Amino acid sequence: MLAPLPDLRYPTTPFEQLARIGGHLFDVDVCVALLPEEPHWMRTIGGLLESEGKVPQRLFGQHSAILIPDTFALDSLRANLLVSKDPGIRFVAHSRLIASDGKSPLDIFLGDREPRTWTNERSSLFGDFLAICNEVLNGGLQERELLDLIEENKQLHRLATVDHLTGLWNRNSILDILDRELERCFRERLPISVIVADLDHFKNVNDQYGHLAGDAVLEEVGRRLRRAVRTYDAVGRIGGEEFLIVMSSCDALVAASVAERIHAVIRSDSMPAGETQVSVTISQGLVTYSGEKRMNPVELFEKADKALYLAKSKGRDGIQRDTDTKSR
Ligand code: GH3
Ligand code: MG
Ligand code: MG
Repeated sequence: MLAPLPDLRYPTTPFEQLARIGGHLFDVDVCVALLPEEPHWMRTIGGLLESEGKVPQRLFGQHSAILIPDTFALDSLRANLLVSKDPGIRFVAHSRLIASDGKSPLDIFLGDREPRTWTNERSSLFGDFLAICNEVLNGGLQERELLDLIEENKQLHRLATVDHLTGLWNRNSILDILDRELERCFRERLPISVIVADLDHFKNVNDQYGHLAGDAVLEEVGRRLRRAVRTYDAVGRIGGEEFLIVMSSCDALVAASVAERIHAVIRSDSMPAGETQVSVTISQGLVTYSGEKRMNPVELFEKADKALYLAKSKGRDGIQRDTDTKSR
């Protein structure tokens, strides 16, 4: 992700604060909250959207907005220099909030240099965000209340994206990340690798030591997985004792070394589980994709899952590479 715009760094007005929060919440390159007299290049894109006419407004909570997952899908936008050249805006969300007492309306723009597909959770978070912006616009919030709402929203966002037991990304978030990174790697012609990993005979841990001990093992597995991957890899829990690791700009060789590290850190020392210590092993399915042609995330995930199944059938505690995927 490129550096944020400088005018978002030292917010002073409530609108600038909102913009900074929005930028973080939605993880976008640009978020601005503008009164009509304030010029900004996002306005030009907003104007194009309005003149396009074919772009329908959607309801996000009580407020309507235009959502463009990929500006390249619209001819008139693709032809615009702000889209095709610098800053190369691919994703746009725009809402105009109306002031109740005839004051100026407030325009909210989110923009990103990568196309985005929003989950229902993201869309409903956007509804919450617009509701807060609307409160601020209409002067219904004191500064203290605004800060409380922001804190609450951060917690909501955390709850919506993070797995409560392990602190890893939850299923929806890691699948979102896979989607986004796959698109980015395809665009930049970078390799991407994915691991689907599943603890071996985990049912036995629960049966022998109880569910709480099982939970403690899962927490420790989460910690060790995070230690084993590179800092910019993403690790998520996609089901009970099953994990997905997304490694962008990662070729087959590097991916294999990450998988080896995971293999080693999980089986190295026993894990604390209530009164006792438990040893577990993990099976992994690994896929590297060269980024040369567009690939569907489901297809990539299924390849890794099939490889995992093979690792299980070969006796577990091992790494299986998907054999149809070309590596480089
Ligand atoms: P395999 O090697 O084939 O993967 O065997 P397994 O026993 O790990 O797989 P199976 O799918 O039969 O069982 C998974 C177990 O994981 C069953 C379930 O009790 C346990 N599990 C799933 N989610 C949780 C959780 O959140 N906490 C705990 N403690 N256990 C969980
Ligand atoms: Mg298992
Ligand atoms: Mg499983």
